[in-house]
Amino acid sequence: MTTPRTFRIAAIPADGIGKEVVAAGRQVLDALAADSTGGTDAFALDWQEFDWGCEYYARTGKMMADDGLDQLKDFDAIYFGAVGWPTVPDDVSLWGLRLRICQNFDQWANVRPVHFLPGVISPLRKADDTELDWVVVRENSEGEYAGLGGRNLSGRGPGGEVAVQSSLFTEVGCERIIRFAFDLARTRTRRKVSSVTKSNAQQYGMVLWDDVFKRVAAEYPDVETESVLVDAMSAKFVLRPEDLSVVVASNLNADILSDLGSALAGSLGLAASANLNPERRFPSMFEPVHGSAPDIAGQGLANPIGAVGSAALMLEHFGLPDQAARLNKAIEKTTAAGVLTRDVGGSATTDEVTKTLIDALTP
Ligand code: ATP
Ligand code: MG
Repeated sequence: MTTPRTFRIAAIPADGIGKEVVAAGRQVLDALAADSTGGTDAFALDWQEFDWGCEYYARTGKMMADDGLDQLKDFDAIYFGAVGWPTVPDDVSLWGLRLRICQNFDQWANVRPVHFLPGVISPLRKADDTELDWVVVRENSEGEYAGLGGRNLSGRGPGGEVAVQSSLFTEVGCERIIRFAFDLARTRTRRKVSSVTKSNAQQYGMVLWDDVFKRVAAEYPDVETESVLVDAMSAKFVLRPEDLSVVVASNLNADILSDLGSALAGSLGLAASANLNPERRFPSMFEPVHGSAPDIAGQGLANPIGAVGSAALMLEHFGLPDQAARLNKAIEKTTAAGVLTRDVGGSATTDEVTKTLIDALTP
């Protein structure tokens, strides 16, 4: 019998349904770990939970501890719920916790898979029931979310207050995310990368991106490529998604496209994501794409599948692809059996889906 590899994970459930889905994900992961003993890829998890978020803010005036990053830096990964609550301004909660972690731990690659699940009705599912499966790779460190600009600038425009919001594109930033997308494409059945910009209207940063894309593409002759404008890509997501494999885009464009992708798959509640520091100098962070959903929080209605899918991405990051596949298989068995929360047309509770997922781990 092999000794299990132990991974230290920082759990940050934070706000609203983040708490419910992180609790669910932990239960499923613990069940999987317990069942892995004896196998060649046996693993164990050592959890530490942090109570940061909007309630912590109400008590302390801070979204996380002052030395929070220091407390997190030696974990193998961060398992995150969702941040935000109506009592705290969105920019305060987001920048005070989630983006603070993303930026300081240089999690520059955000991976968001989109795929259809059996038993889930998608607005896109075609008559022939084609299996669709693509990944949005989002630049997660610069671009439109670089925070550059200001308000109360005068002297331009027709009058009134003037605000400028600039984007930042660096050659290194573009190159590393584009290269990441090509390397990911090589691991997939369909070796194709679609690059998305709006370079007909934004003539500096997006054109730099396009230039870097052409240069990097030349090093991957085995990977098919295309460059598509973001407006055209939005249409393509709906009309020809079978033509996609890896879609790489800037921070804002990929943010919008991945929400579109998860809605097309059937619900925001199904969508998983990984914020990666590919150099592994800092922990990476795994979280569902959805937010804290105050409208349904605390009612047992949250779909835990996005969080559980994010846990599968975490296991892949740990080098446990077979365990990740077991988790994804359990998700498919659960949805195929019709055990669905309300957002995907069912009436099961978060707990019922979680229990079914755990049962589905054993073949
Ligand atoms: P954020 O600003 O944090 O991205 P948001 O305002 O975009 O959040 P979300 O909280 O992500 O909104 O979700 C929008 C709506 O989708 C929710 O109000 C909720 O009804 C539904 N929803 C999101 N996630 C889930 C889930 N896991 N299970 C069920 N419904 C969900
Ligand atoms: Mg949102």
